[in-house]
Amino acid sequence: MKIGVLALQGDFEEHLRALEKCGVERMAVRLPQELDEVGGLIIPGGESTTIGKLMDRYGISEKIRQRHAEGMPIYGTCAGLILLAKEIVASQQTRLGLMNITVERNAYGRQIDSFEADVLAPRLGEVPLRAVFIRAPVVREVASSVEVLATHDNVPILIQEGNLLASSFHPELTDDLRVHRYFLDTVRKSL
Ligand code: GLN
Repeated sequence: MKIGVLALQGDFEEHLRALEKCGVERMAVRLPQELDEVGGLIIPGGESTTIGKLMDRYGISEKIRQRHAEGMPIYGTCAGLILLAKEIVASQQTRLGLMNITVERNAYGRQIDSFEADVLAPRLGEVPLRAVFIRAPVVREVASSVEVLATHDNVPILIQEGNLLASSFHPELTDDLRVHRYFLDTVRKSL
């Protein structure tokens, strides 16, 4: 099992390092054909408009959609979550549009651009997760097919829909590997 990290822009190095700590094979993915080598894909945090434009330039969006339709799990963090969303409030930006959620970018407000919080995610164990938010999107709506695994102030922050996992925070910036391990379990089950 090998996991790909979309490495067009953003904090893909941190995800590769988290995967290394999980002891799993991993590779940076930029080209469409590289997706044939991986069983799962992580879309990192960064700038979703930039990553979206680069995905078009590298011609990789269609291939991601195709691999997803074949059952490949995808995990998006922050900008990655935005790119997975079907609806982005007041934005026409390029997206994969695979997940039945509505998100609003940078919606936590300027004063709290970045913050951290301890949140409970019962499926990942009793110990709270340290969630790091950086200009994070707010998940405004989720379809009934979307499972909410963690919330902060009643806003979903860790969600799953079938083989799609998304967080508005950045577990790759902490030493807690539980969200990555949870994704790896999803990939294992999909193989
Ligand atoms: N604010 C960024 C965006 O809208 C996301 C920030 C992040 O990924 N940390 O794309």
